[in-house]
Amino acid sequence: MIGFDLTPEQKALQQKARRFSKEVILPVAAKHDRDGTFPVDVMQKAHHEGFLSPLIQKKYGGGGLGILDTCILSEELAAGCMGIYVSIFVSTLALYPIIRFGTEDQKERFLRPFCSKYTLASYCLSEVTVGSDPASIKTTAILDGDHYVLNGTKMWITNGGYADFYLVFATTDPQKKHKGIISLIVPSHLEGLSHGEPIDKMGQRASNTTAVTFKNVTVPKENLLAGEGEGFKKAMAALDITRPMIGIGAVGIARTAMELATQYAKKRIQFGVPIAQHQSIQFMLADMAKDIEAARLLIWKAAWLADQGIRNSKEAAIAKAFAADVGMRVTTDAVQIYGGMGYTKWHPVEKLMRDAKVIQIYEGTAQIQRLIIARHLLQEMEQTG
Ligand SMILES: Cc1cc2nc3c(=O)[nH]c(=O)nc-3n(C[C@H](O)[C@H](O)[C@H](O)COP(=O)(O)OP(=O)(O)OC[C@H]3O[C@@H](n4cnc5c(N)ncnc54)[C@H](O)[C@@H]3O)c2cc1C
Repeated sequence: MIGFDLTPEQKALQQKARRFSKEVILPVAAKHDRDGTFPVDVMQKAHHEGFLSPLIQKKYGGGGLGILDTCILSEELAAGCMGIYVSIFVSTLALYPIIRFGTEDQKERFLRPFCSKYTLASYCLSEVTVGSDPASIKTTAILDGDHYVLNGTKMWITNGGYADFYLVFATTDPQKKHKGIISLIVPSHLEGLSHGEPIDKMGQRASNTTAVTFKNVTVPKENLLAGEGEGFKKAMAALDITRPMIGIGAVGIARTAMELATQYAKKRIQFGVPIAQHQSIQFMLADMAKDIEAARLLIWKAAWLADQGIRNSKEAAIAKAFAADVGMRVTTDAVQIYGGMGYTKWHPVEKLMRDAKVIQIYEGTAQIQRLIIARHLLQEMEQTG
């Protein structure tokens, strides 16, 4: 049985998030984009609404929502500002492995306080020389009695300058490649931990992105997530869940770009008629509408599979790759429809285009998603002969 109706609870969540996006995010989006400043006030309000902890079970004080519910919520926040949405979302990226694989003690120590008090978390996988190939991590975690000693620098860390704790992937032995990788929950107050200045980015400028350095940081053994040798699998499992949540951000951006372009096309007169009456403009708008719809449905399917406990690596990669490309295509066409005006800071569509670009890069690049899809396809072909 297939149904596309949202439940009354999902509709209420969508309305609540849409209102928040319109009333709290949108009014400050341009300012934070211009200044490249972190929207602490919005983040605190998002905490108050429970948007920072949607996936955490209710018994720890979280929203107890599913992945699909969270995607519905996320589209609305991203429609207001992707940079602010990603600042809200990234804690979920760091928390999800704890929700899924953490011990009861870790959940009590990290999830419960996260829900009760305004707190942020970061996910630390990438390094300067480690991007698409995370198995080549250089950051080391050497066991010394009852603690690990952590050394290395992580790069591109979203919320890096504001996180209260970091989920850090490190190797116990680089020779072991992915089998040597572990994940550690690292509170930000530990001695030897520091972060760099905010990186000056093209888009999503409201989000805070920094390097994070660990110099002989002593992390208690109780903060090891899952067993040794399991870290890589856990990191990848988290991405299967969070890729739809990032992909839906592209849908939110694209939807805003389409709405703005449609309004502009109805008002802008050329050759004596609104440009919306020219067929080539209508075709661009129609392509936007069909691509957005398709991207949303792919994401909902990947999210639904995850909610059913069905492995969704291929579907998550398809959804993320498709949605990210839609985000880029739709925002570029929105700039086209605005003509010269679209190429200025006077209108918001140029921001949307800048914000969309990085979705094709982070959480696995457009090329890496295609490698995952092709690998699954080839394996399936082998199995079916
Ligand atoms: C704004 C921003 C926020 C980020 N936030 C985080 C965060 O919070 N935590 C975190 O851990 N990381 C984060 N990242 C890092 C992000 O995940 C990486 O940038 C991404 O994985 C790509 O790695 P890279 O930049 O090193 O590119 P590279 O891996 O060097 O890739 C460069 C190019 O080569 C291509 N390529 C690489 N390998 C292959 C291959 N096998 N086949 C075909 N093409 C290939 C890539 O697709 C890409 O086009 C963030 C990045 C940005 C820009």
